[in-house]
Amino acid sequence: MCGIVGIYAHAPVAAELYDSLIHLQHRGQDAAGILTCNQRFYVKHGLGLVREIFSADDILKFHGHYGIGHTRYPTAGGYNLSDVQPLWIGSPYGIGLAHNGNLVNYKQLADEIRYQKHRHLNSSIDSEVLLHLLADGLDQGEYVADDGSAYFEKICGAVKYIFSRAQGSYSVVNTIIGKGLLAYRDPHGIRPLVFGERNNADGSKDYIFASETTMFYALGFEPKGDIQPGEVAFVNEKGTLFRRIIEQRQFRPCIFEYVYFARPDSTLNEISVYRSRLRMGQNLALRWKEKFPEIVPDVVIPAPFTSNTAALSFAHEIGVRYSEGLYKNPFIGRTFIMPDGKERSRSVRYKLTPQKTEIKDKKVLILDDSIVRGTTSKEIVKMVREFGAKEIYFVSTCPPIQYPCYYGIDIPSRKELIAAKLSEAEIEKYLGVDKLLYQTQEDLVEAVTRKGNHHIERPCMACMDGQYITGNINTEKLQQLENIRTSERGE
Ligand code: SF4
Repeated sequence: MCGIVGIYAHAPVAAELYDSLIHLQHRGQDAAGILTCNQRFYVKHGLGLVREIFSADDILKFHGHYGIGHTRYPTAGGYNLSDVQPLWIGSPYGIGLAHNGNLVNYKQLADEIRYQKHRHLNSSIDSEVLLHLLADGLDQGEYVADDGSAYFEKICGAVKYIFSRAQGSYSVVNTIIGKGLLAYRDPHGIRPLVFGERNNADGSKDYIFASETTMFYALGFEPKGDIQPGEVAFVNEKGTLFRRIIEQRQFRPCIFEYVYFARPDSTLNEISVYRSRLRMGQNLALRWKEKFPEIVPDVVIPAPFTSNTAALSFAHEIGVRYSEGLYKNPFIGRTFIMPDGKERSRSVRYKLTPQKTEIKDKKVLILDDSIVRGTTSKEIVKMVREFGAKEIYFVSTCPPIQYPCYYGIDIPSRKELIAAKLSEAEIEKYLGVDKLLYQTQEDLVEAVTRKGNHHIERPCMACMDGQYITGNINTEKLQQLENIRTSERGE
């Protein structure tokens, strides 16, 4: 799970890439990088938060009117600087890359590059393989001198080649020196990629491609929808935009973006994340009333901040007071994406402070977006109990997560997933709550797809239903992928 951005502008672009990464910080807090180009690349990578990596001086040293940026939380690879994007390769032309997603056939493709093509891979991330595939694709056929429609044909051929080789999820932005800015999205459209335009006073246009729309307003870009599944968009050096859908398979965007990952002010795949969360809370409340008609909590408290929106509509639907009874310190990272289990548990207490006035002697309903490992939820329940709650109910807007994600979100291995090991009754007991209620898969899909001018039949929910859409993931392959993930984490 990462944030990517690519901007083509009629002025130096580095400061706007920096601002974009600040607006994508929630998609990865482990590392970040910016790459711009004119006749050469200007690159800086670093570990940590965006504002810790780049100084004002750094931004002045970047040149070029198009470039790309990346914020990272690793789902593949290690914690080394060589694994931080954007990556680049010198031939052909000089290509830079920022990728969000995950390839399930990374090992096979990496082995081909190393042992059949005798090339060096300098990182342990699947994104580098995508870079080589694009280089291979662009190297095929005749050399094309200009960056016009003939070159766009060449690009389409190269991306088609990637679609035929890469299995998994990939939303990608590339710079190609002397040619322009490229963006493409895998044929299932698993990871998001939105698109915007900005009109300049002289009649020219600037373009942005990003994981989310979060920076559009601040930078003056008008949202123009999504890059479609299997679509290629290319802005050449002169600022001409080319777009084409090359190959479409069943549209299966990640439903977990709406549950947890995306910022609520984003619109992805023509669906407002904020509104979808309101509907999640509403659907869950209807189920609550159906299942426990006799139980009425005194307050509904969200596990902040991702759950606030759903808790608001849940409380409204059951006619109970919404209360911010857990105060969140915003200066500590999200617990779900902290890699070490012990850290995660300890950080809950640093991060959340219960408010006695909202909890003591009350029947408290805690609403969280999801229960992944169960450690954070258990800690929250413990804290609320310590602050004198009379009864505690726990509801989750996400159905039980029983399978790992191999498409770019850090839902690691079955042995870490509480719902893969325990029944709902056992989880209720483990958390120490009086009642537990999960959203159903059908209600979640309904909440996400009810409104919006979209064409999603069923989103990806492989982490909930085990139906992986790419990569022929069967039991054997699942085990193989789990082993790779476990060894990468050094467990
Ligand atoms: Fe999203 Fe889950 Fe699919 Fe991964 S498996 S892409 S987290 S819905």
